[in-house]
Amino acid sequence: MAQMRAEGVEFHTHCHIGVDLPVAKLMADYDAVVLSGGSEKPRDLDVPGRSYAGIHFAMDFLRANSKRVPGVAVPDEDFISAQGKHVVVIGGGDTGSDGIGTSNRHGAKSITQIEILDKPPAKEDKGLTWPNWPNWPNKLRTSTSQEEGCERHCNVLTKSFEHDGDGNVSALNYVLVRWDKDEQGRWQMSEVPGSEASFKADLVLLAMGFVHPVHEGMLAELKEQKGLALDPRGNVQGSTEGPAAYQTSIPGVFAAGDMRRAHPPGNRAQESEGDSGCRGGYGVAPVSLSHQATWVEGWHEPGGIH
Ligand SMILES: Cc1cc2nc3c(=O)[nH]c(=O)nc-3n(C[C@H](O)[C@H](O)[C@H](O)COP(=O)(O)OP(=O)(O)OC[C@H]3O[C@@H](n4cnc5c(N)ncnc54)[C@H](O)[C@@H]3O)c2cc1C
Repeated sequence: MAQMRAEGVEFHTHCHIGVDLPVAKLMADYDAVVLSGGSEKPRDLDVPGRSYAGIHFAMDFLRANSKRVPGVAVPDEDFISAQGKHVVVIGGGDTGSDGIGTSNRHGAKSITQIEILDKPPAKEDKGLTWPNWPNWPNKLRTSTSQEEGCERHCNVLTKSFEHDGDGNVSALNYVLVRWDKDEQGRWQMSEVPGSEASFKADLVLLAMGFVHPVHEGMLAELKEQKGLALDPRGNVQGSTEGPAAYQTSIPGVFAAGDMRRAHPPGNRAQESEGDSGCRGGYGVAPVSLSHQATWVEGWHEPGGIH
């Protein structure tokens, strides 16, 4: 920040564009506006029991923790603690990993991470990873957070939640699924009959990715007043090549980072679009490990259920 300030960048914090300040004002005052608000609309889970207390978007859990670790005051009612809880993390990506690391630091009783997809292969298969190769090959990765302690299950589809009689989540009911290709070569998911079971859960963290940028506020204003074009997935439309690279459908308004390209599927260097780096990481604090990092396999093998 100091370096950038010295180079002449002016920072304004606590200013929600489209809410505190109309984006039209920025467009009137500046020659160019860059939309780099990230992809912050989390994927939700529409199953019975979703509204029970103790089921949270992982980012709400991580954000409050990231503030408290360096000493920012976070009221207790806004802080989500994993201490002494059976934590279930839904989603096998980076956000899920941060949820595991933070839960370990809080002193969770147990941590279970579930993933709907097959367990990835141990080594990348270049033929199978197209068109992603060599950017982000699909292979089994174990994050440092996972190494610190958790149980990982794949091929698990959440069906519903139970509560303790008082409206607090107490269990997650699931069924195992398998993935097979249909005649057109498209992956199809099917439930495995008789595989219904449940995990004990006092705290559930939803870490199933982000669907698109937040539309309310800034983007809604630009769409209504200036006809901002979004791509079919709801991201801000803009190409990366040619003389109009990164320009949106509105002249002088550009888009970069996750707001344009959506949340990336995995860690990668992103400096080419001036990304601000990693959000939601947990602060460094002593960890006492109570769990083993294990994959629960059984018949959860790559390629589906056998
Ligand atoms: C939990 C988690 C872990 C991750 N781990 C990794 C990792 O290990 N490695 C990696 O490479 N990537 C990781 N990622 C992805 C990485 O964080 C993002 O790809 C990257 O931060 C995107 O940068 P960005 O600048 O486009 O958006 P962001 O970093 O999301 O920044 C957007 C900023 O804009 C602000 N904002 C949004 N709307 C407005 C508005 N209307 N007015 C004013 N401000 C606004 C937001 O508050 C936010 O500060 C992780 C993401 C998550 C959620």
